Amino acid sequence: MLGLMQDWPLLLHRIIDHAAIQHGTREVVSRAVEDGGLRRRSYVEIRERALRVAKRLQWQGMRHGDRVATLAWNTDRHLELWYGISGIGAITHTVNPRLFPDQIAWIINHAGDRLLFLDLTFVAMIEQLQEKLPSIERYVILTDAAHMPQTTLKGAVAYEDWLAEADADFAWLAFDENTAAGLCYTSGTTGGPKGVLYSHRSNVLHAMTWAAPDYLNLSSRDTVMPVVPLFHANSWSLAYSAPMTGAKLVMPGAKLDGASLYELLEGEGVTMTAAVPTVWLGLLQHLEATGGKLSTLKRVVIGGSACPRAMTEAFERKYGVTVSHAWGMTEMSPLGSFCSVKPVYEHLEGEALYDLKVKQGHPGFTVEFRLTDDAGRDLPWDGKTFGRLKMRGPAVARAYFKREDEPILDEQGFFDTGDVGTIDPAGYMQITDRSKDVIKSGGEWISSIDLENLAVGHPDVAEAAVIGVAHPKWDERPLLVIVPKPGRRPGKEEMLAFMTGKIAKWWLPDDVVLVEAIPHTATGKIQKTALREMFRDYRLPG
Ligand code: ADP
Repeated sequence: MLGLMQDWPLLLHRIIDHAAIQHGTREVVSRAVEDGGLRRRSYVEIRERALRVAKRLQWQGMRHGDRVATLAWNTDRHLELWYGISGIGAITHTVNPRLFPDQIAWIINHAGDRLLFLDLTFVAMIEQLQEKLPSIERYVILTDAAHMPQTTLKGAVAYEDWLAEADADFAWLAFDENTAAGLCYTSGTTGGPKGVLYSHRSNVLHAMTWAAPDYLNLSSRDTVMPVVPLFHANSWSLAYSAPMTGAKLVMPGAKLDGASLYELLEGEGVTMTAAVPTVWLGLLQHLEATGGKLSTLKRVVIGGSACPRAMTEAFERKYGVTVSHAWGMTEMSPLGSFCSVKPVYEHLEGEALYDLKVKQGHPGFTVEFRLTDDAGRDLPWDGKTFGRLKMRGPAVARAYFKREDEPILDEQGFFDTGDVGTIDPAGYMQITDRSKDVIKSGGEWISSIDLENLAVGHPDVAEAAVIGVAHPKWDERPLLVIVPKPGRRPGKEEMLAFMTGKIAKWWLPDDVVLVEAIPHTATGKIQKTALREMFRDYRLPG
């Protein structure tokens, strides 16, 4: 027997409708890409402009299932485009501008995008590339007539002029909640880019799951600043979960340096923000240099790569801001776990609490964890046994775009994340490595992440990375690569002494090397492949 409740498809435009009706005066404040000034709109205006986007896209000939690309920073315009595009059943393909131009061309061609909306920042790069983008019929530049540059881009038009041709007298189209809404390519940290195709249903469920108190903990009284880009896997749901809850949004545009972010945090009364560790490194350095305080910020979500313990301690102890370590991946929409304190761990304090906080945490309802060995046998959740982390749920990919025939799930329907980690009896997961980065020494595994976390705790270290290098006896041994803080030069013996006693002795790196910079991927992670390339000819001492 079926229940007798209404059929109300989980469609993304219902979120912006709700925000406009229930939280209509709440603002979306954006730093303009043109001049860095602030632009303010209400949720009522954002919805109205999204409806105009939808109507204008239809005139442009966009139809259900068409892919529309954006190459854009976090701004109100990017947000209204998202809702407008998916509101006609078309698909927003968020292109990551930090990819190499050839990769950008590759994914736009693979996606078959018909229109490209781009920020001023990227006009010159796309002019160079346009010959390689035959599927793009027209380029819309996210600016107004006053700031429109001279450009050779085909059919180029200023977004505000383009939008002015449509009014808001439009009704969202109706379609199945499983309709595709967004397309995001993995940045290829491991292999070539693969397209993850989100649906309306998966994005709505994902936003509902992670808005809850143990996770993003959002409410209408919050002011949320997503520094994590819309092009980085759904901005960790914030483009949906903030309007869903009525939180005010602060969009930082193109300026992500410590000083610019600090100005917004204080000026707009931000209570919650989220980004990868490298962004927070910039903010913490700015605070240290200026003696600034964080007077309204309550919570910072840090993820995308492991959040160093020293960073958590700096935010919590020096600035009174609670850190939530989060883990996820493009294929997971992207959130998979959050490290909030469950009652079983409520008694922890001091160092023991920070031991917990370096873990990636536990999943919200709709995400299931599995831990197996290479042969697919389940491993114990004892907090010690390393294994392959696998995930299942309604916002986890079951196949890649245009590769639907290639199976990516195990026999129980779990997706192998490519991450290696442990799960403790309370359900907290801790990543020890990517399966490709784990260091295999004498048949045992050494976690590069644990070593990196430890090394950045040294007061002279700005950033640290650990890679395995070939060793005649042990197969691989860890090499610690350090970017020192300005004016500091921590020596090898000093670093090893600092690490001794905090890890198993055989985990200690065989050598320590200082470099000026460590390469990062387009999503801000340490690029281990490039680092291994840098040290290809390196030989361990002895
Ligand atoms: P890619 O960088 O391959 O495009 P994603 O941006 O989707 O992919 O990154 C997903 C990966 O990032 C995860 O599989 C994991 O290895 C890493 N990651 C994300 N969050 C964390 C975290 N909090 N701690 C450690 N690793 C993380």
